[in-house]
Amino acid sequence: MESRVHVVGGGVIGLACAWELSRNGHAVTLVSPAPGRDGAAWVAAGMLAPVTEAHFGESALTALLLEGARHWPSFARALEETSGRTIGYDTTGTVTVALDASDRASLDDLLAYQHSLGLVAHRRSASECRRLVPALSPALRGGIEVPGDHQVDNRALLGALLEGCRRAGVAVVEARVEALEAGPVLVLADGRRLGADHVVLAAGTGLPTIEGLEGAGLPAVRPVKGHILRLGPAPGAGERVLERTVRGLVHGRSVYLVPRRDGSVVVGATAEERGDDTGVRVGAVHELLCDARAIVPALDELELVEAASGLRPATPDNTPRIGWTSREGVLAAVGHYRNGILLAPLTAAAVVDLVGRRPVAPLIQELAPA
Ligand SMILES: Cc1cc2nc3c(=O)[nH]c(=O)nc-3n(C[C@H](O)[C@H](O)[C@H](O)COP(=O)(O)OP(=O)(O)OC[C@H]3O[C@@H](n4cnc5c(N)ncnc54)[C@H](O)[C@@H]3O)c2cc1C
Repeated sequence: MESRVHVVGGGVIGLACAWELSRNGHAVTLVSPAPGRDGAAWVAAGMLAPVTEAHFGESALTALLLEGARHWPSFARALEETSGRTIGYDTTGTVTVALDASDRASLDDLLAYQHSLGLVAHRRSASECRRLVPALSPALRGGIEVPGDHQVDNRALLGALLEGCRRAGVAVVEARVEALEAGPVLVLADGRRLGADHVVLAAGTGLPTIEGLEGAGLPAVRPVKGHILRLGPAPGAGERVLERTVRGLVHGRSVYLVPRRDGSVVVGATAEERGDDTGVRVGAVHELLCDARAIVPALDELELVEAASGLRPATPDNTPRIGWTSREGVLAAVGHYRNGILLAPLTAAAVVDLVGRRPVAPLIQELAPA
């Protein structure tokens, strides 16, 4: 056995780290109140979207996202094999569409930026977009085809990771970590104390609630709220409304529609600075539905199955921190903001290398918190 590692947080980052560490010979304990069933990862859409998530001024982050995407095919294969579960990993591609002339102009600016970074994205007319996605509204002004942006069913992914962890021998403790003490030792909310060789902090927006992290070199992690909807096929419905992810600009607002294999569609998402409030607001649900229907009118036939919100863990520069903190034996894997599902395989691989004291790529070295 290589070493005893405790992972704090059972979202996508903690589970992926626990699974990979265990597969690499470490004795792993995962501590989280409801592993695989809560956090941002539970509500997320599951897009694996380095290109359509490329924002002006974030070229270093885009390079990280592209590297993250490269890890997905082998990660998905290994996880499905070892867990015995399917995770809805889908490489059909993405189309981003514009509703009005000003949205089209914005998409053209975005396309020029994407090309300046060497990203693969193709300008498409309205009729070309409708050939790719027949359910699109005839009123659209064309768009961009991005073949390299994919998706996974995030809830199936969490279930597979949890099962993979169990099969690989990870001990799962359903509890909240209250504090970290030197050692490193975890102090749980029920008073238990767990010592280890290494601790991996992967608590998402719960990080600031853990006592004893002052001076560890960690960034301020703040919650960015996202409303998101799940629409299901009406009973007896025939074909799927969508077969590939559609993103859109609707009078300047962004919306996305992510289809699942069972005919359901995930519609998201707002980005709101409201502290740790997770209430679901009528106005946000209304806006998402209006924008989604403007792009794909056939959504009217689906059922509204779930309206939810989640908290993305964001750092001041929107970039995650992965690496050793200034506390002996304590690693961080936090702050994945909008792209934690995409970055989970890359993060887990980096954590395995760091725990094994192996060198990591410069791209990862730059993310070290301390
Ligand atoms: C609406 C929405 C849509 C999104 N869509 C996408 C997408 O399409 N693609 C993508 O890549 N990303 C997406 N994201 C972002 C993604 O969900 C996050 O980046 C990712 O979930 C971060 O993973 P995490 O494990 O760090 O945090 P989380 O998934 O939030 O998990 C944190 C875990 O830590 C646990 N925890 C917290 N405090 C403690 C404590 N004190 N002790 C023990 N455990 C603790 C929590 O209970 C939870 O299980 C989306 C997010 C939202 C909100």
